[in-house]
Amino acid sequence: MIELWPDKEAQQILKRHGDDRQKTYIFETGFGPSGKPHFGTFGEVVRTNYVMLAMRDQDYQTKLIAFSDDMDGLRKVPEGFPAWLREHIGKPVSSIPDPLGDEYPSYSARMNALLVQMLDELELDYEFRSSTETYRAGLFNEQIAMVIRHYEAVQEIILPTLREETRENWFPFFPICEGCGSVGHAHVVEVNKEALEVSYVCDREFGGLPGCGTRGRVSVLDGSGKLQWKVDWPTRWHAFGVHYEMFGKDLIESAEVGDRIVQRVFRGTPPAHMFYELFWMHAAKKSRSRAAPA
Ligand SMILES: [Zn+2]
Repeated sequence: MIELWPDKEAQQILKRHGDDRQKTYIFETGFGPSGKPHFGTFGEVVRTNYVMLAMRDQDYQTKLIAFSDDMDGLRKVPEGFPAWLREHIGKPVSSIPDPLGDEYPSYSARMNALLVQMLDELELDYEFRSSTETYRAGLFNEQIAMVIRHYEAVQEIILPTLREETRENWFPFFPICEGCGSVGHAHVVEVNKEALEVSYVCDREFGGLPGCGTRGRVSVLDGSGKLQWKVDWPTRWHAFGVHYEMFGKDLIESAEVGDRIVQRVFRGTPPAHMFYELFWMHAAKKSRSRAAPA
């Protein structure tokens, strides 16, 4: 019998997380809503679904979480989008108005609706999660508290992976500036581990723009800011109990760092992973032409 790759992935999951037909294995797939869902989003969801089907074929229960990074700050105005968006650079995409009409309450609400539509068309069984709502509901508070209390350990894991100029002043949490609403411009200058509060200055460059200069002090809980991407990803794994997530080749390093954070900071077991080539269609075309007789 030929063993297909989804079956191998299923075995990897059982080996890492235990073989138990009573439990539900959690799969996650992420989505960046600063643009419309594209071919890459589609490909990842379909491939993840193959692994879930391989599990279900053997009577294991699975659940898919489709996670939208809608608390991320807008970095640039995407091509074909209106120029007025420039004044919102740095703000979480969930706090920016709908750029392409007024049907949706926010920029990301429109993109999330497109994602949900795509997933529904694929007839997948999934649970949609918004980053903004998850932070605001306090569902990441436990992990945020651990990150803040052990931020030196987090820095020790992350700093070697950063370019030298970004290492200085790097902190795992980005507060939302109370002056301009940006989640990308403020940087933390003081930490109170007991009170779980940080003091910040809004003076970082983000998306090519300077900060507004506001100084403030906020709690790190309940959505008053977000964790930096490389910490945010493992936070989800731990908070949702994710058993499996695949990703494009460009995220190999982030995943390795994420696994270390789950183990060393959260004292948990990281999900099983698989990475895939980002431009597999292009690569397939290239290898076909190479294989052709000269
Ligand atoms: Zn500001």
